[in-house]
Amino acid sequence: MSHNIAPDQNDTNIDIGRFIHETSYKRNKKEIIFGNVKFDVLLKEKNKILIGETKKTSRFETASKYQMLYYLKILEEAGIEAKGVLLYPEEKKRTEVILDEKSKDELNEIIEQIKQIIKLDTPPKPDSKKYCKTCGYREFCYA
Ligand code: SF4
Repeated sequence: MSHNIAPDQNDTNIDIGRFIHETSYKRNKKEIIFGNVKFDVLLKEKNKILIGETKKTSRFETASKYQMLYYLKILEEAGIEAKGVLLYPEEKKRTEVILDEKSKDELNEIIEQIKQIIKLDTPPKPDSKKYCKTCGYREFCYA
């Protein structure tokens, strides 16, 4: 993504994800583009806004949590207090995500690791993981 390589837009999983995103929680969500990220604002609670991210499955919840933490960090750096919620409409489940000191440290460590990977001249060799099966980039990794 950092090299502007987009995932396969015809990938079925991306289509399903897009469909769930467009058709779920339609009543009270508003899509916001903030810098280079895009997310849904679900509602405002007193001084805090609530950011929602709709997911097809909770199987990859750790990755989804860090994605949400990244959004919250970007908002915090802009002086906006927010909290996050991961929404799994097919499972009728929601998980709250809070940016606290511990999660900020973890996130910063991950960001540093990602920066090191981005700096490499060639990508690391694919290391088959459970994510690969449904990943929109798999054509690039396993072509
Ligand atoms: S290694 Fe697997 S999860 Fe990572 S980009 Fe390639 S296919 Fe996707």
